[in-house]
Amino acid sequence: MMQLFMPLNFLGFVYREIRGALANIERMFSLLDRVPKIKDAPGAKSPQITQGSLRFEGVNFRYGDRPILSDVSFEIPAGHKVAIVGDSGAGKSTIVKLLFRFYEAQQGVITIDGHDTKALTQHALRSAIAIVPQDTVLFNDSLLENIRYGLPGASDEQVKEAIELAHLSHFVSQLSEGWNTKVGERGLKLSGGEKQRVAIARAILKGSPLLVFDEATSSLDSHSEQAILNALKEMAKGHTSLVIAHRLSTVVDADQILVLSQGKIVERGDHQSLLAANGLYKKLWTVQNQH
Ligand code: ADP
Ligand code: MG
Repeated sequence: MMQLFMPLNFLGFVYREIRGALANIERMFSLLDRVPKIKDAPGAKSPQITQGSLRFEGVNFRYGDRPILSDVSFEIPAGHKVAIVGDSGAGKSTIVKLLFRFYEAQQGVITIDGHDTKALTQHALRSAIAIVPQDTVLFNDSLLENIRYGLPGASDEQVKEAIELAHLSHFVSQLSEGWNTKVGERGLKLSGGEKQRVAIARAILKGSPLLVFDEATSSLDSHSEQAILNALKEMAKGHTSLVIAHRLSTVVDADQILVLSQGKIVERGDHQSLLAANGLYKKLWTVQNQH
């Protein structure tokens, strides 16, 4: 039975991917990563979430019997930028999955604007958060429509403003048909850095109070990196942001940096204080700045 339903489910999924304003979030996790659906609690609420302040308190999470996160606690006050750094497999993406309630933590509480995320409707929760995923999916349409996808119904003017803020204007001005240029599989292929800026423009357009940025692991040339740093700064203005960083150059200006190792926060502080502490962060920094 299950197998019969799979193709329909899959088609439904693809359809939602194209239509849904929130689909970016789902796309962030691979189709093969079977995410158990978590249902809204009875009487789940959908309050206005305006600040996007975030708190993890004593969060423990296991996949089966395998511990992944232990006692993770941190806070992002409204308007602040917090970064999470750490080796691959440390648990960074799991923190984001728990935030979106793709999984439920076995212990601990996650609140947004003081509301326990378990007591919110999935719709309210996902409206409050805009994510720039590690791998941005473009569909076969104009650049303008690809960005409008962040807020279906947005005016051309709003989309163009997002293009400006995402530091894509210069790129657009070089295209033969400007923002009407077709991109995606059958159109113009964008570089990793350009795609991430498209995703930043979508997130800016969506206008959610909390922004989550999962930096691409693929190496970007220094020009793309600078453009992304500038776009990120613009994006963070007036928002609360959580940045998962592979390159420490993106976190230097964060209010707080959390260093995650094997599911535990082993160090925290701003860039200068972490360098002075001479621990794991300093090691990562040194490795990345050798040349
Ligand atoms: P990071 O984003 O820091 O690279 P992740 O949060 O993706 O790390 O993964 C943390 C750990 O959880 C890794 O050891 C990974 O193998 C494991 N993991 C991730 N997804 C699953 C899953 N669906 N089932 C079991 N283990 C998983
Ligand atoms: Mg990850």
